[in-house]
Amino acid sequence: MSITVVGSIAFDAVETPFGTRERMLGGAATHFALAASLFDRVHVVGPVGEDFGEDELRVLGTRGSSIDDVELVAGGKTFFWKGRYGWDLNTRETLDTQLNVFEHFQPKLSAASRASEVLFLANIQPGLQLEVREQCPAARFVALDSMNLWIDIARDQLVEIISRVDCLILNDDELRQLTGKPNLVSAARAVLNPDPSAAGPSIIVAKRGEHGSALITEDAFFALPAYPLEMVVDPTGAGDTFAGGFVGYIASQSGGLPSDQVLRNAMAYGTALASFNVEGFGTERVREVSGEAVVERVQDLWRFAHFDHVAVELVT
Ligand code: AMP
Repeated sequence: MSITVVGSIAFDAVETPFGTRERMLGGAATHFALAASLFDRVHVVGPVGEDFGEDELRVLGTRGSSIDDVELVAGGKTFFWKGRYGWDLNTRETLDTQLNVFEHFQPKLSAASRASEVLFLANIQPGLQLEVREQCPAARFVALDSMNLWIDIARDQLVEIISRVDCLILNDDELRQLTGKPNLVSAARAVLNPDPSAAGPSIIVAKRGEHGSALITEDAFFALPAYPLEMVVDPTGAGDTFAGGFVGYIASQSGGLPSDQVLRNAMAYGTALASFNVEGFGTERVREVSGEAVVERVQDLWRFAHFDHVAVELVT
């Protein structure tokens, strides 16, 4: 089994209260692949420019990910994003987005990428997500992420691709923006497809930064706090790393749509992986994290969340 991901492969510039980086490897597909590669073989799809070097390609190929469908565009420049975080790291301002090689990219997937059973449409123009979805008709589980920019400027295509996935993973404010509903549960329900055999997402995951994440399906609601860290250095890519752990765990489990139990475990793996991502700048922590360290944090999360119900007689 394998996982195919399309999404931005980028150079990022960030300013956080703990330092700045002028140019570091980033992008939604990059962060996703680094996390998902702990579970299964990942095929990375996307273009890069001539400024993308051997070192960056080596990181993309961490833990055996295939970079055969990473297209080097002659004379092109790699996608660039620049952001600045507020003092508590909860607010982020985008200072610059340059699509560069993504502007004219037409994905042509290899047979191996098309054959993956699991597909992740990471954040990029919804039109490109649609083109990749078309080329992977056999995928048994398809998940999608997006962002406010695409809700603003490419809403129709975004709504179309959302109707063709099993799982939608969005920040909670993006879910509210997409649906026009101020309440998280009603926003999730506005896009939730109640019939898993019909088209459209039957699993919604709302990412909530340091407050963790929530899973909403027709008959379940499950929320996990973020892993309690005292020091967060750079949140860039936390959402994509979460998605890599979440989707990677689902890919590691056998066929069909994931059960409630699988989804809860997937939430824990996503949460644990995101916690490593934010401890360093860019990809530096997740590219070298060990499987044992991830499992240890998953077990911690389980201990923190677990309680035995001890009933009390309530006054009526
Ligand atoms: P996250 O922090 O998980 O929301 O994702 C951060 C990553 O998203 C960065 O590495 C950026 O390169 C990438 N990114 C930022 N803006 C966009 C965009 N408009 N389309 C695709 N990727 C983007």
